[in-house]
Amino acid sequence: MFKRMTDKLGSHFHGHSKEYTNTSPIHSPISSIPSTVSSASSLLPQYDHRGSISTERTSLSASDWSKRGDSLDYIEEEKSLGPRPTKHKGTYRLEDFIIQRTLGTGSFGRVHLVRSKHNLRFYAIKVLKKEKVVRMKQIEHTNNEQYILADISHPFIINLWGTFQDATNLYMVMDFVPGGELFTLLRRSNRFPEPVAKFYAAEVALALHHLHTLHIVYRDLKPENILLNSDGHIKVADFGFAKACSSVTWTLCGTPDYLAPEIISQQRYNKSVDWYALGVLIFEMLTGLPPYHQAQGNPAILYEKITAGPTHIRWPSANNEEFPLLAKDLIVKLMDCDPSKRYGNMQHGAGDVFAHPWFREVDWQKLCSREIVAPYLPKISGEGDASAFDNYDEDFEATASYGLPADDLYGHCFPDFEYSYTS
Ligand code: AMP
Repeated sequence: MFKRMTDKLGSHFHGHSKEYTNTSPIHSPISSIPSTVSSASSLLPQYDHRGSISTERTSLSASDWSKRGDSLDYIEEEKSLGPRPTKHKGTYRLEDFIIQRTLGTGSFGRVHLVRSKHNLRFYAIKVLKKEKVVRMKQIEHTNNEQYILADISHPFIINLWGTFQDATNLYMVMDFVPGGELFTLLRRSNRFPEPVAKFYAAEVALALHHLHTLHIVYRDLKPENILLNSDGHIKVADFGFAKACSSVTWTLCGTPDYLAPEIISQQRYNKSVDWYALGVLIFEMLTGLPPYHQAQGNPAILYEKITAGPTHIRWPSANNEEFPLLAKDLIVKLMDCDPSKRYGNMQHGAGDVFAHPWFREVDWQKLCSREIVAPYLPKISGEGDASAFDNYDEDFEATASYGLPADDLYGHCFPDFEYSYTS
């Protein structure tokens, strides 16, 4: 069992152990190469969800940098983010829902499967304890998550319907994504066949490109944060570290295995850290482990290897087959230590990634409109089936306390979460 990374900052973890059972066949959507997912128990060390880490907000705007006397050559002009399309926002109250079970846990609370009393549909509600968010200095990240998701509408990104708060908690009402985490599918499968990895990587690339077009950096790409919808297409979830960023920022946040070298060395960085993470993700999907995996979970060695760069990656061969050369080429280009030479961050932006020969057979238009059949269809017996998620001990005491009157010390920190009152 992989020992969860302990980060030197020790500031922010969420993780739990997982066990795997059965799986459905995967077929190849993009090429004709047959591909199956093994249902045998994993030969690779299985390990827990990896926790994300974060320092408190330390981002600087371009003007802050110039005050510090730093060179501005790496800094884009601070652009106005401009008006964004506004989604219809509903008004929600806890009383509108019946809580069914826990889907996942995080550092500040948990995500519940709930059913609407009105339309009988199922939703996921993320509940965050305000006191914990404040104690762990995540106020700004939490407000960012609300602000960013409220305006985003994309086929491969989680949909947020609305938010509210009571005296103790913040609530985020999202679509329920029933197919579970890509993480679970990957650990069950050991590794994905190349066309399958390509399918998920291509959908992630489209999601990242959309965010970057809106000047949003995501900052926590990993299989744990990629959910599978009932049709097998992805939904990127957990926008806890996403941030509107048209220039550079320097908060140390993300997940150790997925951190770009410039984040580790606490330099300013930009949206290219997401492309770096896509390189790590492709490697992990093809091999089952991230490129600098540390069996002992030693963060110092991990960070040293990340900083040394992709020339030090050991490229495993699977079933006596060499690591696919085009995939290797793309991974190296995405994981370039120099952000100015990193694919996705050069003159042609995401165009370089989309045009890379590894993605040659991808029809981007069709993929974006979900006309490509996904390689794996989650086994879902009906609406509200959450069997793709692990079982969690329910905290009935905490759930019963939702909505109860209490001292509200921190409500003012979260102005965009409306108060919900029982009528
Ligand atoms: P988060 O704190 O956003 O990372 O959520 C914790 C876990 O809850 C995730 O890893 C998922 O397993 C689960 N989860 C979060 N959002 C949803 C959703 N909209 N539908 C289904 N499961 C979710």
